[in-house]
This record gives sequence, C-alpha cells and structure tokens, in this order.
Amino acid sequence: MKYASPLQICLEGRDDVVRIKTQEVPTDQILTDEMQSYFDELIQTMLQYDGIGIAANQAGQSWQVFVVHKDYSPTGEHLVVINPRMVSMSERTHTMEEGCLSVPGVYGGVERASKVRLKGLGRDGAVLDLKSKGMLARILQHEYDHLQAVVFIDKATHLSDRKHSM
Ligand SMILES: [Zn+2]
Repeated sequence: MKYASPLQICLEGRDDVVRIKTQEVPTDQILTDEMQSYFDELIQTMLQYDGIGIAANQAGQSWQVFVVHKDYSPTGEHLVVINPRMVSMSERTHTMEEGCLSVPGVYGGVERASKVRLKGLGRDGAVLDLKSKGMLARILQHEYDHLQAVVFIDKATHLSDRKHSM
C-alpha cells in the first residue's frame, strides 16, 4: 500500500478515528518496508503541518505510534515511538498552553506532569526508554493521550489562540 503524501489530518469532532483507542503495532511488522515508509509519511505530515508531534490516529491509522519533532527529541532526529506505555509520572506538574493539529485554531492551558518516563519501541525495533522533562515530557504526554483517544481539550482549563500544535 502506498500512502498519500502528506497524510490527511483527522479532526476532532469530524473523524471518529481520533476518538478510538489505538491498537498495538505487531512487532514483526515494524521493520517492513511498508511500515517504515508509513513512519516517514507520518514525519512528513507533521512537518507539512508545522507540528512538533503527531500521533498515528491523527492521520487516519489506529495504531500505537507517534512521532516527536527532532527539535525536542533526545536523539536529534525525528523520534518514532511505537507501542508506548507510561512507566512513571512526576507528582510535580506544570501548566502550559497547548494546541493540536486535530483541533485547529484552539489552544488551552493543560496541567501535566513535569517529568515522565515512557517506554516503547523505536523504528528500528529496539527498546526506547525515555526519561523526559520540559517540552519533551509535555509532548510525550500529549501524544500518548492521543493513542488513548484523549484530546487536550478534554483537559484544558482555558482557551486562547497561539503556540505550537502537536
Ligand atoms: Zn494533538
């Protein structure tokens, strides 16, 4: 299967896939050409829409996959995270404005853990163990929520009109 480039962004309130919990990616498919090109399409889609992260179900696939922009990635490359699970979250929280590619034009303050540890698999199939703080911790929580069918507006305490979209 060849994916259209960029992938179409799915919108909250229009596309059901945003509100359906995603499925694990079979680990024996991670290294297939099809899946690898899908990861590339997801990255390109994030870049095309000026996102700093994107989850697969924001682009039509109900898979447990999200991408983090290289500007926030510990590897310095766009980070693909597959089948993630949240291992720990700090008690300490921080509130900051967020936006979302699936809710264009809407921004709101969201309280999130200041630090999180998340484990998953990378696009090479190897284990990723991400200990994060700051913006990366926020992106990981935002994208992880997407995979659970949770959108930031569910958690936002107020709405306004600027900043990055994930
Ligand atoms: Zn989002």
